[in-house]
Amino acid sequence: MLKKRYLLTPGPTPVPPESLLAMAKPMIHHRTKQFRAYIADATKGLQKVFQTENPVITLASSGTGAMESAVCNLLSKGDKVLTVSGGKFGERWTEICKAYGVNAKVIDVEWGKAVEPDVIKSELEADPDIKAVFTTLCETSTGVRTDIKAIAELTKNHQAILVTDAISALGAEEIKMDDWNIDVVVTGSQKGLMMPPGLAFIALNDKAWKLAETSDLPKYYFNLTKANKSLTNSDTPWTPAVNLVIGLVEALNIINSEGIDNVIKRHELLAQATREAVKALGLGLLAPENPSCVVTAVKLPESIDGVELVKKLRDKYDVWVAGGQAQLKGRIIRIAHLGYMNKFDIIVGISALEMALKELGFEFELGVGVKKAEEILAG
Ligand SMILES: *Cc1c(COP(=O)(O)O)cnc(C)c1O
Repeated sequence: MLKKRYLLTPGPTPVPPESLLAMAKPMIHHRTKQFRAYIADATKGLQKVFQTENPVITLASSGTGAMESAVCNLLSKGDKVLTVSGGKFGERWTEICKAYGVNAKVIDVEWGKAVEPDVIKSELEADPDIKAVFTTLCETSTGVRTDIKAIAELTKNHQAILVTDAISALGAEEIKMDDWNIDVVVTGSQKGLMMPPGLAFIALNDKAWKLAETSDLPKYYFNLTKANKSLTNSDTPWTPAVNLVIGLVEALNIINSEGIDNVIKRHELLAQATREAVKALGLGLLAPENPSCVVTAVKLPESIDGVELVKKLRDKYDVWVAGGQAQLKGRIIRIAHLGYMNKFDIIVGISALEMALKELGFEFELGVGVKKAEEILAG
């Protein structure tokens, strides 16, 4: 049977052919001016997407490596920090802090809701010793968007630095590192940046670098001071993921030719069409108040098993979406509108969802979701 796959998962995401072809080129050596030119181009392209003048360090790891590097390069044993537990990735900050002996005060948020900046405000006021606030721009497990701009207003006048996990959100959701005064931004390659997994990125501003000078936590591979020093010469301390960096230059060219503001607008439109289409089918949203334009988490009725739905979409229709994680397993599906995607990826996704739901016995009029999406996308 012909297999033509549609990848609508919130990472990995589809990779444009320009990048795939660039990565298929024969190997080159990295300690050369030829490779340093790629690093220099990638860094410039990343700064545009991060909207920062700060250097953006490229690491050979998945996104979590950049998260871990933020913790172990900035903090010291016993430091007090704030984390938010509104989903799997917010919890990851807490787990990393724990692993390094950092004292995390966890703000509990219901899955599907965003943390209120006011809650962070009172925590910061109550404890001037807090060293860092760890946040997640798009909590990919729930599809929630957090108001990072408002939180950055709070940390600006506090000793605490603001660290933002934008792993799924960078290149999809508005984030202006310098204008908003975000101290640390981390991301990964396999989401909004339209690349395969394997690269992670981190940028620190002056306030964060100053804190890094005092850090006493152990680090070796993820030593950011060392990486930053190499970067001034467009170099890396260890062997970089050569072919991924070469592919990244192409992906960044695509993003920056469209322009980051237009890229974000495209994501907003695709997200809106997806949300309205699933509502037209009679399904609910997990995060109706603060939906991200990265991924839409769709609540399923009792009668539909989410695990079966995801499997049917994948095995029968070759449309790959994600299911729910942890306590949301089987209860939701997550449809990504992230990265190398246009209007017709959404039409395909909604159409396949309709066919699979029909087969599983859910009652609705076939075509109403697609119709709604078309109305929005054609507008
Ligand atoms: C995907 C993701 C991560 C984890 O990244 P890995 O590349 O799997 O290490 C962390 N945070 C968020 C918000 C993500 O979407």
